[in-house]
Amino acid sequence: MSPVFVPSSNIALLRESATIAVSQRAKALKAAGRQVIDLGAGEPDFDTPAFIRDAATAALNAGATRYTATEGILPLREAIAAQARAMGPAGADVEALDVVVSNGSKQSIFNACTVLFGPGDEVLVPTPSWTSYYEIVQLARAEPVEVRGARERDLKVTRADLEAAATPKTRGLMLNSPCNPTGAVYTAAELRDLLDLAHERGWWVLSDEIYRRICYSGDAASALQVAAARDNLVVIDGVAKAYAMTGWRVGWTVAPRAVSKAMGAFQSHATFHTAAASQHGALEALRQSERSDAEIARMVAEYKARRDAALAIFATEPTLPLVRPDGAFYFYFDVSAAFPGDPDAGTSFAKRLLEDHGVAMVPGAAFRTPDWIRASYAAPQAEVVEGISRAVSLWRSLQ
Ligand code: PMP
Repeated sequence: MSPVFVPSSNIALLRESATIAVSQRAKALKAAGRQVIDLGAGEPDFDTPAFIRDAATAALNAGATRYTATEGILPLREAIAAQARAMGPAGADVEALDVVVSNGSKQSIFNACTVLFGPGDEVLVPTPSWTSYYEIVQLARAEPVEVRGARERDLKVTRADLEAAATPKTRGLMLNSPCNPTGAVYTAAELRDLLDLAHERGWWVLSDEIYRRICYSGDAASALQVAAARDNLVVIDGVAKAYAMTGWRVGWTVAPRAVSKAMGAFQSHATFHTAAASQHGALEALRQSERSDAEIARMVAEYKARRDAALAIFATEPTLPLVRPDGAFYFYFDVSAAFPGDPDAGTSFAKRLLEDHGVAMVPGAAFRTPDWIRASYAAPQAEVVEGISRAVSLWRSLQ
């Protein structure tokens, strides 16, 4: 007898990743012969620097083909710890034992939420935020609480916003600067304010710093630089974005020792560890910091040139509300005026833009702000310019 598939209560609230769904629709249109400009994906369009690829190849040939320690190879954990110590006061005592290497920072967030939160817990999520935060918190059976940031502050939240949303059940706070989807960056003072509040209240903070080095006014502030202490802090980072290593799947946490131990135990039953060769590639990326810095500077300069070229197009429509991004590689703009009364204007706009004008962008519903739409500029400049031009023209035609 075949069982009838009924989704288990584990995934009762799960939604498909809208960002991945858009990419897949764009790919399907391309496969059908349509010319599509894909500004949907949140993935660097650069190749991983050659010296990193070479190191991983050499490691494979030298036998890095077997299981590693659950938490990652020791030299990589040590290199990550050294980077955390160099960051600033709160990181000063970080050791390899405080680091867990995972299959991308996405798994790091999953590990942290799983071991820190559970039924009855609320986790504050500054909104808009990356789509997976809400889902991962829910998979931990806790409740994500959306906290809106004001438009005049580029949708960033303040201490007062968090205080207003907090309840006795609040257990955690997600932070992400530079922010996906807005590209907004918290200043050191803004970040300190939020971290101070979390420390006063005894909330866990998950600081997702995956875009920290993709910032157009110098590296963005890290929680390790500005927090008074790190006893409530899980810093999440990885090589995916800054080093153009998305497919390698290497992310990590820097966390208090007991939390790291629990995450290691959890991971040992889930994925065990990320690929040995990938870990050796990441190790080279961190060890060869001068070469990496040069590569990152080159890529960030390229993103900045694309951002500036696109901003010049947005400037022709000053009434189109837009967050001016200072980091990551996204534009976030409000298209609600194009579809008055539509509760999901971002999706309506994205559909029109893709089906009629061949440009893929991600509707803001994915980030719990359905009036908005996200365009990635991790794509060649000519495509970014053409894609943004078509979006601005569509917006104009709908006024
Ligand atoms: N955090 C944010 C804010 C992201 O945008 C992404 C990727 N889109 C991730 C984490 C996951 O990155 P990784 O490839 O390291 O899992």
